[in-house]
Amino acid sequence: MSLDDQAEELASALGVDKQEVKSKLETLAEYNVPMDEAAQSVRREYGDGGSGSTVISEKQISEITPDDGNVSTTVRVLSVGKRSIQYNGERHVIFEGELADETEKISYTAWEDFGLEAGETLAIGNAGVREWEGNPELNLGESTDIERVETELSVPYDIGGESTLETLEPGDRGVTVEVTVIECESKTIDGRDGETEILSGVLGDETARLPFTDWEPRPAVAEGNSIRIEDTFVREFRGAPSVNISEFSTVTELEHSISVAKSAPRKQIGDAVASGGLFDVEVVGNIVAVRDGSGLIERCPECGRVIQNGQCRAHGEVDGEDDLRVKAILDDGTGTLTAVLDKELTAEIYGGGLDKAREHARDAMNREVVADAIRQSIVGREYRVRGSLSVDEYGANLDATAFESYEVDPAEQATVLLTEVQS
Ligand SMILES: [Zn+2]
Repeated sequence: MSLDDQAEELASALGVDKQEVKSKLETLAEYNVPMDEAAQSVRREYGDGGSGSTVISEKQISEITPDDGNVSTTVRVLSVGKRSIQYNGERHVIFEGELADETEKISYTAWEDFGLEAGETLAIGNAGVREWEGNPELNLGESTDIERVETELSVPYDIGGESTLETLEPGDRGVTVEVTVIECESKTIDGRDGETEILSGVLGDETARLPFTDWEPRPAVAEGNSIRIEDTFVREFRGAPSVNISEFSTVTELEHSISVAKSAPRKQIGDAVASGGLFDVEVVGNIVAVRDGSGLIERCPECGRVIQNGQCRAHGEVDGEDDLRVKAILDDGTGTLTAVLDKELTAEIYGGGLDKAREHARDAMNREVVADAIRQSIVGREYRVRGSLSVDEYGANLDATAFESYEVDPAEQATVLLTEVQS
């Protein structure tokens, strides 16, 4: 059934305006809510729960489940994020963030401007509940009553959405961070309204580094600046969180500078892979193998894909360009990943660049000798690798920014041994 037909049927069953029902369905579709569920949700919103009951129960947040149709609850507003979404070519401003009581916190989306502010206590009547990635979320809409409560509800959570980069997760909204802009470049993209200028790069604080996009370029977002960003939202980019600065975000340049963590957080490989992706991480493990497609390789000059026998999967027969790369399997006992080393890092462990590799291959009349030499020097040894981890259908790949032999400092080890003998 088309969305239009569905709207027609629902509207006549509920005895309400079709256009109104249609726009609610469209909004839910925009959020990838399946049509059946969307129709259920609209039914519930108009008080038709299917069971004939329209009693709305008062619940604490920990008691709310995705199966609840509508609930009433008393909460403290933790964060308020403003965002614009598009459907049918129209722009709608919505508000999102987190609410909490003594028992738990919950995400919300407000389809109307209730003038919500972080810190205030609200008695919410008739909020819709929907499921969002397995968790219940409150929908505040036309039929929701909101009353300000004088007595402040005390909650075991921070108010205002202030966060450090390390704790951010995709889906967070209404977040405030204080960071230094480590890298920043201007890009032109094809947006909905034609070509648009955006900024993208890397932010850092004492805890981590994360990529960012500024959809409304502003001068304070510049390399080296320390800034406070209020009302950002976090999206997933290649499996890792990415900070989005929107038209509603406020950016202020700080008087003091925010120091940036020099090292990346060290993780066990199993944990890092289970996290689904990390923008900047350090792991230590043994190289157990060097995969095919390492050493002196050829790339398509059009798309950069690695080619074999002069054939690109996308561009057919091409004149390949030489490059150096290593794909090494790293194992620390908790899991494995493939560390991908670029030309520069490969040259370091190979002990020479493209010229040496070409000469080596020519003398042996075999390009494989380069990979073999690399294999001999690194397999069976322990390395510390830092980089950006992505986990997808191609496996767990760590694009290395640093690759160093990891040997316990002999002096340090001697001290440890000595302490053990003495005790
Ligand atoms: Zn190609």
